[in-house]
Amino acid sequence: RVKESGRNGIQLFSPAMAEDARNKLTRIEELRHAVERDEFLLHYQPQKDIRTGKVIGVEALVRWQHPDEGLLPPGAFIPLAEETGLIVSIGDMVLQKACRQARAWQDRGLPPLRIAVNVSARQFLESSLTDQVASALRSANLDPEWLELELTESLIMRDVAGAIERMQELKKLGVSLAIDDFGTGYSSLSTLRRFPLSRLKIDRSFIAEIPDKPGDMAITSAIVSLGRTLELEVVAEGVETEEQARFLEQAGCEMFQGYLFAKPLPASEIESLIARLSGKAD
Ligand code: C2E
Ligand code: MG
Ligand code: MG
Ligand code: MG
Repeated sequence: RVKESGRNGIQLFSPAMAEDARNKLTRIEELRHAVERDEFLLHYQPQKDIRTGKVIGVEALVRWQHPDEGLLPPGAFIPLAEETGLIVSIGDMVLQKACRQARAWQDRGLPPLRIAVNVSARQFLESSLTDQVASALRSANLDPEWLELELTESLIMRDVAGAIERMQELKKLGVSLAIDDFGTGYSSLSTLRRFPLSRLKIDRSFIAEIPDKPGDMAITSAIVSLGRTLELEVVAEGVETEEQARFLEQAGCEMFQGYLFAKPLPASEIESLIARLSGKAD
């Protein structure tokens, strides 16, 4: 934005902007170091089957253990990681860690959990994602059926034909694919059915104001029936109240993820949560 000041009333580069630019450069340097030192870790948010109450999967959500600032959420660094391309290395680490964790849980005798990993635009479009995924599965010795990749609706709608090709490549590895933040883009039924998908995740923004916004409830129900038509499982994101969960169950939604059930948790807490649910002591 242009600031008003100076001789001609316009200053293109203010001291505040110089400060911002410096901060950004510092942040980029820190992020580079973080990649070198592997300062990233994953939290896992359980996905619950609405009818059986069982946890059938978890979503891996990255955090940055910043040396001075503590644990930073993805919103604080993923956009910059995308911009600089560092997301490709970060995403690779995320895949490796997620696959290793899924395998470790299986080895410790937990009921097998599907693990969902978010894939950003840059990862999907620019890097050899297929090789990264294959290598993460191989080195963790994880059966691909337990890995799901989440792609956002806006990402796959940018270039439908290209996305389909890319998704088929991934599909061939044996992993499953989900559309994240669904409902915010403009996918038509005819486009959607061309994608090799297993799941739709209803965007949190539609769930947040249930039951106050009848329009959002109508959209949510419509997405659930769309899922049924296309034989896709539907997961609701961001479920925070019992009322929302009840509405989703009535609408026929199979699964949900949200603070009502659990926040994203460190791996060890997922383990005790599942032990509790299956009636065993932690
Ligand atoms: P997302 O994939 O849509 O993940 C869901 C986000 O909603 C998570 O935020 C989660 O903590 C939050 N959430 C879940 N349930 C609730 C709820 O009931 N209420 C509220 N208010 N929020 C809820 P988080 O962990 O901050 O992640 C934000 C976004 O960052 C993710 O959105 C995803 O787009 C991105 N992200 C996270 N991890 C990765 C990653 O490893 N790679 C990439 N490329 N992106 C990631
Ligand atoms: Mg996601
Ligand atoms: Mg989402
Ligand atoms: Mg999101």
